[in-house]
Parts: sequence; C-alpha cells; structure tokens
Amino acid sequence: MDERFKIFFEHLHDGGTETIDITCDPAFLEVSEEALFFTKPVKISGEAYLTDETLILHLNIATTASILCSICNAPVEVAIELTNFYHTEQIEEIKNGCFNYQEAVREAVLLEVPAFAECHEGNCPDRKVITQFLKKPTSAKNDGHQPFADINLDQFKL
Ligand SMILES: [Zn+2]
Repeated sequence: MDERFKIFFEHLHDGGTETIDITCDPAFLEVSEEALFFTKPVKISGEAYLTDETLILHLNIATTASILCSICNAPVEVAIELTNFYHTEQIEEIKNGCFNYQEAVREAVLLEVPAFAECHEGNCPDRKVITQFLKKPTSAKNDGHQPFADINLDQFKL
C-alpha cells in the first residue's frame, strides 16, 4: 500500500482537521486492461476529521480513464471526477491510529468509470459505416403494418 494514503488521526480528537492534497501515479488502481486503463495521475484533495466514533474523509478525486469507443474500439479518454466523496470508517475498527484510504479511493474511481464511451466526443467517424447496416425504421415493407394482424381473432369470438 502507498504510504501517502495513510491518515494518522489520533491528534484529530480535539476537533482538528487534516488536509489532504496528493497526486498519485495511477498504478495503485491496479487496472491495466485493453478495455480500461489509466495513464494520468490521480489527484486527491480534501480533509479528514473525526466525530466521536468515526473517521470521516471528505475528498475530491480527479483522474482520466481510457476506455474503448463502443463503435470503433479506439481508446477514448474519459474524465473521472468525484466531488464531495465521503468515506467513513469506524474508529474502533482501525488499528494503531492510522487509516490507509487507498482502497476506498480505488473503489470510488472504478465505480465512476462509465460503461460506454464514444470517440470524437460522441461523433465516432465509424458511426456512418454502421448506420448503413441498420434497418431503416420505415421501409416500404412496413408501411401499412397492422400491429394486431398476427392475433388469432378466433379467441375473441363470442
Ligand atoms: Zn470511435
């Protein structure tokens, strides 16, 4: 685990706040696949403080994910931005007065990655190629289509 994600909080019992402001190599996200990878640093800023029983992390997280265009498969960069992300941890479950929030940030970032993206800001050049294979919604054959033509009318006989 990266040491920079450690929060020592015993000194926060008097109501103090610990400021968080780090920029990390995305390697800690432990994701490097063809369909999802990270090359840009992860910026994390915010604060940590205590209530009676809880350590509270209040963070803004920003990075860039690369996923594949759902039409042409080219990598697309997608901004990942979490503002006012909260993570809470029961103090009694933390040992040694130190909490490492690396995994909390990792999960938050991965959950924020969209399932789909399209290159050229939604105007993938391959879209035209695909469109010509799609059936047009009103072809000559469908004109005058009777939606109930397939129903067996016998069952409605009195
Ligand atoms: Zn594309």
